[in-house]
Amino acid sequence: MRSIETDVAVIGAGSAGLQASREVQRAGKRWLLIESGPYGTLCARTGCMPSKLLIAAADTARRVRRASLFGVQVAPEQVKIDRRAVMERVRRERDRFAELTARDTEALPAENRLRGRARFVGPRELDVDGTRVKAKAIVIATGSTPTIPRELSKLGDALLTSDNLFELEELPESIAVFGTGAIGLELGQALHQLGVRVTFYNPFDTLGPFTDPEVARRFRKVLAAEHDLALGAEVTDVRFDANGVVLRHRETTGGRQQERRFARVLAAVGRKPTLHDLDLQKAGIELDDKGVPVCDPDTMQCGDSGIFLAGDCDGERPILHEAVDDGAFAGANAARHPQVQHNTRRVALNIAFTHPQLAMIGKPFKALEHQPIAIGEVSYEDQGRARVIGQNRGHLRVYADFASGKLVGAELFGPAAEHTAHLLAWVVQQQLSVADVLKLPFYHPTIEEGLRTALRDVAHKLSERAAQDCEVTSEFPGA
Ligand SMILES: Cc1cc2nc3c(=O)[nH]c(=O)nc-3n(C[C@H](O)[C@H](O)[C@H](O)COP(=O)(O)OP(=O)(O)OC[C@H]3O[C@@H](n4cnc5c(N)ncnc54)[C@H](O)[C@@H]3O)c2cc1C
Repeated sequence: MRSIETDVAVIGAGSAGLQASREVQRAGKRWLLIESGPYGTLCARTGCMPSKLLIAAADTARRVRRASLFGVQVAPEQVKIDRRAVMERVRRERDRFAELTARDTEALPAENRLRGRARFVGPRELDVDGTRVKAKAIVIATGSTPTIPRELSKLGDALLTSDNLFELEELPESIAVFGTGAIGLELGQALHQLGVRVTFYNPFDTLGPFTDPEVARRFRKVLAAEHDLALGAEVTDVRFDANGVVLRHRETTGGRQQERRFARVLAAVGRKPTLHDLDLQKAGIELDDKGVPVCDPDTMQCGDSGIFLAGDCDGERPILHEAVDDGAFAGANAARHPQVQHNTRRVALNIAFTHPQLAMIGKPFKALEHQPIAIGEVSYEDQGRARVIGQNRGHLRVYADFASGKLVGAELFGPAAEHTAHLLAWVVQQQLSVADVLKLPFYHPTIEEGLRTALRDVAHKLSERAAQDCEVTSEFPGA
């Protein structure tokens, strides 16, 4: 049996594993990158990039359809979506991204790469399709896999996930989207704009990731005006034949039964860590009740072992920049193990490229609702720039700590939310107070002025509270 000895073995050549390998290399240690699938990463092949390419096509269709708002007349019969051409561009550009990433991976020295499926045979030993790998430390960076609801598992080719959606030669005529989180909404809304008949299904009566009930309520109202939503819908029967899939569902409130036919079904109900075939019980580390190794998010170390986690496989923060940070922490610590260094994580920043875009920054409302915070808000309905560009749908709520006056979080949807979200994340991470941020320049007329309105609102509430505190103090001067 072939045997390899190394300092750090990294399982998975995705964004997290590649970053981990770079860190080990930088530390001057021996390393081995193991990959069972194609090079190119989930992000480039089936994740961030192809989904944003599909959304770019959808945004173009939306702009053309709405052109008459600005007096630019495009007759509805002139707007034709070429279902094949849309997918051809998605794949062409996607392939370019994936090939560039794959080429970078293939350019790594051959002695540092091993193709095959890794599984543990001991805490510091792996089997990779018959090759034994002994390592002083191991980084698990095996990513995640779409969850398939049980009732959909029999659908065969009619069932899609983000893993195979982008392989379609042309857009389907209709699709049922299971899941109303970021991925379900991004893909379902894009397909809807591209002329696909879409219904969103969710057994729970929720839409989107918001934890702030006011933002969630307004977001739902905006989406309900445009989309067919089957929320709080219990699917009671799934049948399929040569003409597609028939779904029967019961509304959980009211109990009304409905039946609809679709060409395809998209499962977007979440993703689970890809850990099932690693034989983790032989790794000698603690697993949680879902079978995921317990690890410290500041070191990515599992207990005090030589095993580290990175990326989507830890079941937390399943977004790209966090996966890369995980990889950096895990790789650097695996290289210096048994010494490990604690890192400070960046402020949480989540964006979904829905329409309107949505974002959550810093601490979510749910974590703050019982804390002493002031809330400032703005609606984009009458915001100057948003009206100018005809994208005046949205709402922003910012949260500031009463004691320090610092911004601690925000939830929003609206025009250019991706940019507002970055500004907010940067000031939250810099621990700026609301007063500090209001001293910064805001150009006119911009979407950022909407942010300023919300900041002024929260500043006002902070000063009202400060005034009340003074009154209380002066009433009881000795207290
Ligand atoms: C549709 C979609 C859209 C997304 N959009 C965004 C977005 O807009 N912005 C954003 O920040 N994030 C987005 N994400 C999330 C982002 O893509 C992921 O967080 C990130 O790519 C995860 O990287 P990773 O390295 O953990 O996993 P991966 O890139 O999946 O790498 C894991 C690798 O491990 C390999 N592997 C697994 N098991 C083994 C084994 N036993 N042996 C050897 N190799 C193994 C796999 O083959 C794979 O190559 C999106 C995800 C999806 C699905």
